[in-house]
Amino acid sequence: MDRSALHSRTAPFCRLTVCAVGRDSSPDVHDVVVVGAGILGLATARALLRRHPSLRLLVVDKEPLVASHQTGHNSGVLHAGLYYTPGSLKARLCRSGKSMLEEYAEQRGIPVQRCGKLVIATGSTELPALDELHRRGEANGVPDLQMLGPAGLRDVEPHATGIRALWSPSTAIVDYRTVAAAMVDDIRAAGGQIRLSTEITAVTKSSGQLLLESASETLAARNMVACAGLQADRVSQMTGSPSLETMVPFRGSYYLLSPSTRSLVRGLIYPVPDPQFPFLGIHLTRRIDGEVLAGPNAVLAYRREGYRRRDVRLEELRSVLADPGFRLLARRHWRTGLAETWRDWDKSAFTRAVRRFVPELRSRDLRHGPAGVRAQAVDPDGSLVDDFRLGSEERILHVRNAPSPAATASMAIAEHLVSKAELQFADLP
Ligand SMILES: Cc1cc2nc3c(=O)[nH]c(=O)nc-3n(C[C@H](O)[C@H](O)[C@H](O)COP(=O)(O)OP(=O)(O)OC[C@H]3O[C@@H](n4cnc5c(N)ncnc54)[C@H](O)[C@@H]3O)c2cc1C
Repeated sequence: MDRSALHSRTAPFCRLTVCAVGRDSSPDVHDVVVVGAGILGLATARALLRRHPSLRLLVVDKEPLVASHQTGHNSGVLHAGLYYTPGSLKARLCRSGKSMLEEYAEQRGIPVQRCGKLVIATGSTELPALDELHRRGEANGVPDLQMLGPAGLRDVEPHATGIRALWSPSTAIVDYRTVAAAMVDDIRAAGGQIRLSTEITAVTKSSGQLLLESASETLAARNMVACAGLQADRVSQMTGSPSLETMVPFRGSYYLLSPSTRSLVRGLIYPVPDPQFPFLGIHLTRRIDGEVLAGPNAVLAYRREGYRRRDVRLEELRSVLADPGFRLLARRHWRTGLAETWRDWDKSAFTRAVRRFVPELRSRDLRHGPAGVRAQAVDPDGSLVDDFRLGSEERILHVRNAPSPAATASMAIAEHLVSKAELQFADLP
């Protein structure tokens, strides 16, 4: 066959095909828009740019600063991986994510302190759960775990008391806002853009593109990664992929130890957690700046990003209270809910929880500190979604549930998302 004839007959067809499915070279069309500049959105953007340096990538966040919500309001712990069901995403990504984050922090000169964690049982009824924690930690490959008696635990934390404790010396602390700031620098240095004060309010799909609307502009993207934290279910509704789960905001308030009592806590002192809940209970946490936090409790927040008791948004509260999954959860756990709410109002009840481990602490040693709101997905059957949950649809990835230890695991979650993106995003350059 005459090859030039073949060429001339197929060429127009090829050109058309390229226009329809190829990469749109218009500078206004982003290859990927990441919604959310918390640690997951930033870590994912950074990882995408490292693997695809010519990517036109934009991160948007509705707030004027990055890390404005969970990432900037957490305990600052690099969890070692004690708590999580072996084989779960949490267990795997926490272990690998912690190593990646420690290595990153070292490269970037971000302070990390391996102060270690003691999980203390104060009564014999807690011993089976403490043993289970030890077993899980071993199964998850947490290094150097040790079960200690009362004298051993006092060697580690001289002012703490209990009948037995699990010692995890590799648990560490870091400031996640500093980590987020370093990731912002990396993204910008790699040619990515970050646009703040830009809330995505609607997403439409139009001839191979996604149109993301905000109050001031419409952004065109070929692909999207949604890392919207407390708003994850709403953003997934915008893309026409409503999640089955509902995001329930749980506020947690902290107290700060007075300067004269900070020395009563060397590292991290935790209770044995209630296995029915994904929250770890009121703990004492040394922060990288030398402050010691006591908390957080876990009460229903009356608005998704409401950090004070008086922050209420009626329509948000109504929609949580009307949610069938939340109603089942509340019916099952109303006693715990009431106890947490009582402790939120009554400082002496809070102090009692802390004095179980460090009896020298008095109410006057605790002053009001920061608060955080956890994004916790609840399934329609009323169960708290325990593991990380990621979802996908054509050209869109969703992070649907990423509670603690997602900050620790952020760089590993990001790698996981990039692998998914490479499989299903259109033409990543
Ligand atoms: C009290 C508390 C203590 C914790 N302690 C620890 C700990 O010690 N160690 C640990 O590993 N983890 C901890 N966690 C969990 C950890 O902080 C979170 O899992 C992690 O920060 C989640 O990151 P993210 O990026 O998904 O969410 P976020 O940091 O909440 O970021 C989501 C971002 O999306 C933006 N956004 C939402 N909707 C839109 C929209 N429509 N348009 C534009 N932007 C939008 C928000 O403004 C926000 O900045 C804790 C969490 C809390 C609340």
